[in-house]
Amino acid sequence: MLEKKGNFNMERVIQEFDEVTRNASRVQRDTLKMILEENGDTEYLQGLGLGGRTDIESFRACVPLVTHHDLEPYIQRIVDGDTAPILTGKPVTSISLSSGTTQGKPKYVVFNEELVHNTMQIYRISYAFRNRKFPIENGKALQFIYGSKQFKTKGGLTATTATTNVYRSHQFKSTMRDIQSQCTSPDEVIFGSDFQQSLYCHLLCGLLYADQVQFVSATFAHSLVVAFQSFEKDWEELCRDIKTGVLSSRITNPSIRNAVSAILRPDPELADSIYRKCEGLSNWYGVIPELWTNAKYVYGIMTGSMEHYTRKLGHYAGRLPLVCAEYGSSEGWIAANVDPLTPPDTANFVVLPDIGFFEFIPLRGSGNCALSEPIGLTEVQVGEEYEIVMTTFAGLYRYRLGDVVRVEDFYNSTPRLKFICRGNLILSINIDKNTEKDLQLAVDEATKLLSAEKKLDLLDFTSHADMASDPGHYVIFWELNTDAKDEVLQNCCDCMDRTFIDAGYVGSRKTGTIGPLELRVVERGTFRKVLYHYLSRGTSVGQFKTPRCVGPANKVVLEILNGHVIKRFSSMAYD
Ligand code: AMP
Repeated sequence: MLEKKGNFNMERVIQEFDEVTRNASRVQRDTLKMILEENGDTEYLQGLGLGGRTDIESFRACVPLVTHHDLEPYIQRIVDGDTAPILTGKPVTSISLSSGTTQGKPKYVVFNEELVHNTMQIYRISYAFRNRKFPIENGKALQFIYGSKQFKTKGGLTATTATTNVYRSHQFKSTMRDIQSQCTSPDEVIFGSDFQQSLYCHLLCGLLYADQVQFVSATFAHSLVVAFQSFEKDWEELCRDIKTGVLSSRITNPSIRNAVSAILRPDPELADSIYRKCEGLSNWYGVIPELWTNAKYVYGIMTGSMEHYTRKLGHYAGRLPLVCAEYGSSEGWIAANVDPLTPPDTANFVVLPDIGFFEFIPLRGSGNCALSEPIGLTEVQVGEEYEIVMTTFAGLYRYRLGDVVRVEDFYNSTPRLKFICRGNLILSINIDKNTEKDLQLAVDEATKLLSAEKKLDLLDFTSHADMASDPGHYVIFWELNTDAKDEVLQNCCDCMDRTFIDAGYVGSRKTGTIGPLELRVVERGTFRKVLYHYLSRGTSVGQFKTPRCVGPANKVVLEILNGHVIKRFSSMAYD
């Protein structure tokens, strides 16, 4: 039975969503019209000769497809303080930094109130569908969320990650209250300047309110795995803090210390119960439901590059379901998960026709040829793959996001998308082309050989197309949880080489124009160092995604990886 909670009426939210998705084509036209009416006077659109027209046909005829690179000069002027309506009619309230883990440097994008509004809209929709399956009552959420560093641009605008911009907004707190997702940690922990201290206190506050916690979440699955890996190390210290009511001396940040000390009281009973439960666990299996007994699910983005972490996360989650969070980017939201019971490997996302105007570039048969013409949201075909193009209320017009999706089917008349990969992440030496998905498949195949070995786990991985050697070759970096036999790793290396099956790779390997694939095993903790490198440049842990391919320009990350190699294997000759 759906019910009304606070200002939130789940039944109405679902009804409205159904209404909008049934009329996706009309809603898309109306949405584009609204975007263009609001922003028609901007320098960008004026310059393209739209002349106030708001229909799809004129829009497509006048406005070119662009990438972030094309918009950089416009965004830079906004960053530098030009307050004229350059890309948006409404004022730009701040600048978001996308995680930039793929390109190696953060990208600036415009942030405004519309994006906050869109974020709350999609949170409400996905919560309504989630709550139908997993009703929660008057609870809190253990959320591993982190504000990131912020700075003032030359023009005086605040620049920070999109998630931080959202967490700081007024609407965020009230929506979280409505949808029962109040974080167990005080703001000082979320916005603390030291990630390690914030993480420790998230765990501590989560334990203090353990019986009220209804679900455990983070933006991306990676943050959840990092959190529970830290818990494995710090659980005794956390128990000590709870027993004595005195916060560990490792928390040196005064505002975090004050805020957490204010809620920490000596509670030997709780501390002992946590201690006993932890001691009773086998290799931390099911730690989440064991300690947070009222939690109904574990929630976060678990698709795409996060899929790798779901095995480890599933181990911590035990009997609790892993529920996939919505699909979007710093640039704007795209689609919601309305089937919370679907596991991460098959999860898909229903596009919200009123959150932006969407076009899809067909990828089938595109090969190296010219780009196919984009088609509309309701014209896509089931089973086909597309690159997403978005037009938003935040100043992006026909913007190529770089993501590849496949249409699984339709929800009413709007497509359900499966996220496939970042389109621009390609391992390529000459005529070979392998995407993030191909790399994931090769790694998955090889890790099957690892699972035969007890307790051996691949913690993280990335790749690099090494052109410095002659011939060039693929390098795959692996971090394992423990030592593995050389024989097993050699087999993994051979297996990955054979699993890249695109004709370009196979042909080049056979003719020797691509050298043997190299597996470089790095020391435990190396990928943490990569994470810290990104954090030092302003990325938030919440938005961090391990780059699955490190380009030659990303020198610092390559140095970190290469500086910690403990073993190397080269694949056998190719016949
Ligand atoms: P950011 O650059 O930090 O804004 O990250 C946005 C990117 O994260 C998107 O373009 C996707 O590549 C990825 N992403 C976001 N949501 C999902 C999701 N639900 N599944 C898979 N990948 C996602």
